[in-house]
Amino acid sequence: MSEVLLEVKNLKKYFTSKTGFFGQPLEHVKAVDDVSFNIYKGETLGLVGESGCGKTTIGRMLVNLLHPTSGDIFFEGTHISELKKNDHKKFCRSIQIIFQDPYASLNPRMTIGDIIAEPIKINKLAKGEELEKMVLQLLDYVGLASYHRNRYPHEFSGGQRQRVGIARALAVHPELIVCDEPVSALDVSIQSQVLNLLKDLQDEFHLTYLFIAHGLNVIKHISDRVGVMYLGKLMEVADSDKLYADPKHPYTQALLSAIPIPDPMKKKERILLSGDVPSPINPPSGCRFHTRCIKCMEICKRQEPQLKEVEENHKVACHLY
Ligand code: SF4
Repeated sequence: MSEVLLEVKNLKKYFTSKTGFFGQPLEHVKAVDDVSFNIYKGETLGLVGESGCGKTTIGRMLVNLLHPTSGDIFFEGTHISELKKNDHKKFCRSIQIIFQDPYASLNPRMTIGDIIAEPIKINKLAKGEELEKMVLQLLDYVGLASYHRNRYPHEFSGGQRQRVGIARALAVHPELIVCDEPVSALDVSIQSQVLNLLKDLQDEFHLTYLFIAHGLNVIKHISDRVGVMYLGKLMEVADSDKLYADPKHPYTQALLSAIPIPDPMKKKERILLSGDVPSPINPPSGCRFHTRCIKCMEICKRQEPQLKEVEENHKVACHLY
């Protein structure tokens, strides 16, 4: 396996959901609760789980849009709090994000050219003619034409707007891009175009992706490894092929059973999860999945299973292993 680009250790993010008379926190939403993982250079790590499982919160902490409650983030082996001023700037530039809703993430009053040029100007990477050349080049990389630079976001389709979002993320030469459900808001026919574009750009610029999605079907073709999250915790992490061929965690098995097979002759038994996802304010004791797990045992209600390696490059948090 290649070099570790980013290491996340015991990351937590609690949001205060209720305060007392004097503003003291009384209740917390445990959005991310003690999550650790590595992202290797050049790979795509998929992060998947139902809404509210904490995957987007993790992405936002990595790009500094949210501050962790506790935990450590190491970039190329150095703790981000120990980075010197210039290295910290480089770190911020090195991790960019593409948002789910491309329209909401683009300033409607700015032309596409200005939107793409903005991060280049802020980071003082180019100006004048060179800046103009960079913008045109970026438009070309994402499959847009030079005349698009004078248009406004509302003049574009969803897929084109997402291409603009990708161009803006690329503008500062990042190493890691957090792709936060970048195709969820797009038509199915456009989704594969954007996924193929991301794959091509990864090959060309040696990019690393953290690809966040709520369904395992979307990330199958783009991810080298996949992490499955449930209620703020990582339940399973494995190489993509292994995870799809031999899912170990009952939650992953249920998620995979929900993906339809494009062959009417083949039958697949669907594992139906009963009930809703419990509240992250007061998550279940022991294994957080025990209230919905069809394989739940007595120990699951009392003791929290740790994420441990059960096979090479295959980690699971479940008492069955
Ligand atoms: Fe199910 Fe128990 Fe495994 Fe949790 S630890 S997933 S409840 S079998």
